[in-house]
Amino acid sequence: MLDLNKSFSSASFYEYLINEMLMGTRCNNCGDLSIRPRPICFKCHSQVLEWVQFSGFGSLSTFTIIAIPPTIMVNRGFSRDNTYCSGIVTLEEGPRVSGFISGVDCNNPDTIEIGLSVKVDFSNMWEDLPTVMFVPR
Ligand SMILES: [Zn+2]
Repeated sequence: MLDLNKSFSSASFYEYLINEMLMGTRCNNCGDLSIRPRPICFKCHSQVLEWVQFSGFGSLSTFTIIAIPPTIMVNRGFSRDNTYCSGIVTLEEGPRVSGFISGVDCNNPDTIEIGLSVKVDFSNMWEDLPTVMFVPR
């Protein structure tokens, strides 16, 4: 059962994510949608917000290939010889979210196209490091 009474916090966002829900907030005053929950509307400063579930569909707006990863990713096996793609996805509903882009050829970044249609992917979720992941659709 979807609990929509969680606090508007990153902790709640990641709890939803672990349960395979990409959630954000909608402002009931101005309608602004946000993928990163906070207890106040960034646009109009209203505090009358509600949780909304995003479809998880979007398009790749920009990306980078990480060859010198932070320690937390080195511990997952990423390195100069095993790079990964980090990108910004514009969701169908409008908000932009950063995420791990899998299913693309990191050795040939020229083949990764801006505008690539993607969907959120929960199948390889790292439970100890919840991360928004996308795959091409
Ligand atoms: Zn607002």
